[in-house]
Amino acid sequence: MVLARVWSVALFGVDGIPVEIEADLGGGKPGTRIVGLPDAALNEAKDRVRAAVRNSAQKWPDQLVTFNLSPAALPKGGSGYDLALAVSVLVADHKIPPAPFTDTVLLGELALDGRLRASRGVLPCLLAARRAGLRRAIVPERALPEASLVHDLTILGARTLTDVLTWSHGDDDALIVPERELRRPKVDPPDLADVVGQPEARWGLEVAAAGGHHVLLAGPPGTGKTMLAKRLPGLLPVLSPEQALEVTAIHSVVGDLRSDSPLITVPPFVAPHHSSSQAALVGGGFGLARPGLVSKAHAGVLFLDEAAEFPADRLDSLRTALEEGEIRLARRDGVVTYPARFQLVLATNVCPCAPPREADCVCSPNARRRYLARLSGPLLDRVDIRLRMRPITAMSRMGDTEPESTAAVAARVAEARERAVCRWAGRWHTNAEVPGPALRRDFVLPRQVTALLDRALNVGALTARGADRSLRMAWTLADLAGDPRPSADHVATALQFRDRRAA
Ligand SMILES: [Zn+2]
Repeated sequence: MVLARVWSVALFGVDGIPVEIEADLGGGKPGTRIVGLPDAALNEAKDRVRAAVRNSAQKWPDQLVTFNLSPAALPKGGSGYDLALAVSVLVADHKIPPAPFTDTVLLGELALDGRLRASRGVLPCLLAARRAGLRRAIVPERALPEASLVHDLTILGARTLTDVLTWSHGDDDALIVPERELRRPKVDPPDLADVVGQPEARWGLEVAAAGGHHVLLAGPPGTGKTMLAKRLPGLLPVLSPEQALEVTAIHSVVGDLRSDSPLITVPPFVAPHHSSSQAALVGGGFGLARPGLVSKAHAGVLFLDEAAEFPADRLDSLRTALEEGEIRLARRDGVVTYPARFQLVLATNVCPCAPPREADCVCSPNARRRYLARLSGPLLDRVDIRLRMRPITAMSRMGDTEPESTAAVAARVAEARERAVCRWAGRWHTNAEVPGPALRRDFVLPRQVTALLDRALNVGALTARGADRSLRMAWTLADLAGDPRPSADHVATALQFRDRRAA
């Protein structure tokens, strides 16, 4: 009996789990079998790996080849184990020495001719390998930029199986060493200076950025709702190094990382269409669920244009994400959880006919009510800021001051956020996350400051939730003003931001 052991990594959600692959020769008639919960894709790997080995000028053993993948309880679907399977069988057959592979993780799918193809989730797989104490990784050449985001792990790139075999015999030049000096991603976000007019909405966007509040932009077409929404990520702080790795890992699992500059350092902007399927929006698929657009928007902005056109079940699933900050998806091979903490921006026309000038609307009052009612309820309850976009007129184009740039506004946002982070002392990161009871009990404001809210509550002009929203907004306005706590003026302004959607 000849046994060889090598390492690969299983992808489970955005986590990697090291998998030990053993190859055993003999003990039966010639053939190949894989034990340890193989799925259909992994079974196909047998044929692919055999062809790749033969086409790399190697002989496939003329014995029974048994692969064992452990831990056994883990679903190990996919094609990322090909390289590890091929190497393990050649080690077992004494074609290559075992020593170079003892602390090395092997990732990548093999083409029939022995070329190495990139697989999804290289970044989270390598982070897991590093945690498990492995010291070296061999990945497909194309995955090198992504792989080299992981420090304290020796990364080597291979084009073919033959490269790996040559390297194992002592030829260091057979594998490619990545350039550690990463090119800075070229980020050229759209600038707020391009937005003409809409002073209220611009200010609303600044407040949203400062407090992390979800926003509704309501107004006729052509008023710049999309333009404005696209400028929100530029107002948010750049991602911390940990956030950047977390967000990049999600996009790596999705499989849409840029190969030239893979690290995502700015908050993502994701804009699903209202025809997107539930699976595309929140994640899904067979075997193990893949992440959806809400997870791609993690730590960034999810923008729903024509939000009232989204089916009710899509909007409802967003509410779950907003509440939990993550999405749990149960499929045949287990339950995976993907992060999904994003800032939501909804844009909507105020009626189905959506004329450029509201005076031209031909909808019945009932039709108008029904249209907006699609958005109401639990989802809208979580939207602190509701902005009304005004039709752009010749007058509003002729502002006497130049519109402010993203850089100028982002600087104020950063200061305001710092104040909030200090105040909430690690319990929450933004004002939008602070639950109502905490605002009312632990950070009570003087009577004279909240007088306006109390009066509106007493006469029934404001719901308790509405009052909490106004309080959160008032804190953000105070943070932007550099005040230690909200004043009666901040509360009054916050109230004005509410419920502007009603036409
Ligand atoms: Zn209309």
